[in-house]
Amino acid sequence: MNFELSPEIQATLTKMRRFVEDEVYPLEAAFLYEGFHSILPDLEKKRAEVKELGLWAPGHPKDLGGMGLGLVDLGLVSEVLGASPLGHFVFGSQAPDAGNIEVLHQYGTAEQKARWLHRLIAGEIRSCFSMTEPGMPGSNPVMMETTAVLEGEDYVINGRKWYTTAADGAAVAIVMAVTHPDEAPHRRASMILVPTDTPGFRLVRNLQVMGESGEGFFSHGEIAYEDCRVPRGNLLGPEGQGFVIAQQRLGPGRIHHCMRWLGICRRAFDLMCRRVVERAASPTHTLSDKEILQAWIAESKAEIDAARMLTLHTAWTIERHGWKEAREAISEIKFLVANTMLRVLDRALQVHGGLGMIDDTPIAWFYRHERAARIYDGPDEVHKLSLARRILKSYR
Ligand SMILES: Cc1cc2nc3c(=O)[nH]c(=O)nc-3n(C[C@H](O)[C@H](O)[C@H](O)COP(=O)(O)OP(=O)(O)OC[C@H]3O[C@@H](n4cnc5c(N)ncnc54)[C@H](O)[C@@H]3O)c2cc1C
Repeated sequence: MNFELSPEIQATLTKMRRFVEDEVYPLEAAFLYEGFHSILPDLEKKRAEVKELGLWAPGHPKDLGGMGLGLVDLGLVSEVLGASPLGHFVFGSQAPDAGNIEVLHQYGTAEQKARWLHRLIAGEIRSCFSMTEPGMPGSNPVMMETTAVLEGEDYVINGRKWYTTAADGAAVAIVMAVTHPDEAPHRRASMILVPTDTPGFRLVRNLQVMGESGEGFFSHGEIAYEDCRVPRGNLLGPEGQGFVIAQQRLGPGRIHHCMRWLGICRRAFDLMCRRVVERAASPTHTLSDKEILQAWIAESKAEIDAARMLTLHTAWTIERHGWKEAREAISEIKFLVANTMLRVLDRALQVHGGLGMIDDTPIAWFYRHERAARIYDGPDEVHKLSLARRILKSYR
């Protein structure tokens, strides 16, 4: 196995790390205290600078204006960007747009691409993905109540969704709705593009998650679809194939999350180490002299390294052998990296004491926002069960 990085990716990582530390970290304090909209003009300036540096949209194809990085390189890049809550947004690599762009690229018609894909990649508009419903189990999304009924040349959509991340301010939603109620459960739903200014698309509220309703890109919307009428041409991919496409979207989505979480691990670890060497525990000692904290640092280092290796190995497997070969590994890293991140964040918060609880560092923000990592894109339990089932099959 060759663990060496190419000189090209090393140079890219160095440039990105410098930009994140020098240009993005300084925006965090205003973001944490005054919110996303207060710094949006600064973020747009930084995005323009990133484009000039040739570092925009690292995971998207070159012919569409991205850097065209492979998945292993993207993992390394994502670790750098994930160190700040703002990193992926500034570099045009943020979820849910990244996943939606992949689906549009693969399944969009020429007209859909002309209307949405190019503007999404350029960061001129944002999008959201509207699948989960308040009244149905998101862990088993084939149970879905939202319908899209064909009336003439239009779909008429009715239903309620929630946790539609970044719906506030998005130009377009990819909506999952039942179009074929009489088919087998996995063939009932289709994906439909719904411009958010369509009559009948109503953002009911931004959900108050862990005490914060957020705004703009950093929000999770509850959406009512009320006789929401869109042309038949807004169907994305074949009819009844919504879940097949969603599976293809969620695989990459999960590893992208893991890569970003490694960045959060790095930042939390770095802040933890700095704090213990600086903070006095007594007139003659700092926190770094305390063995219990030394153990947390050693444990965190080992756990992060293990999570990192497994994530990069999964990316490598996908690059060489495709998504199907990596299904087990994706389930494994989804719960492993999420839990590693939460443990490291918890230790980092603890060593900061009272400072860890307030937004003078990004730790508390990460802690609030990333508890959800064990729930979205498949809760821990679902991934563990699916992994165990596959393992046990070979023992029967
Ligand atoms: C911050 C955040 C962002 C999100 N963003 C989006 C988005 O952009 N678009 C979107 O459509 N959705 C989004 N979601 C929704 C997310 O995908 C669902 O919350 C998730 O799939 C779980 O569904 P649920 O909430 O309905 O929980 P349920 O399905 O009701 O499950 C509840 C719990 O039951 C247990 N459980 C469920 N099934 C099993 C099982 N088979 N075996 C054992 N235990 C089980 C698990 O502990 C699980 O946490 C987001 C969620 C969060 C929290």
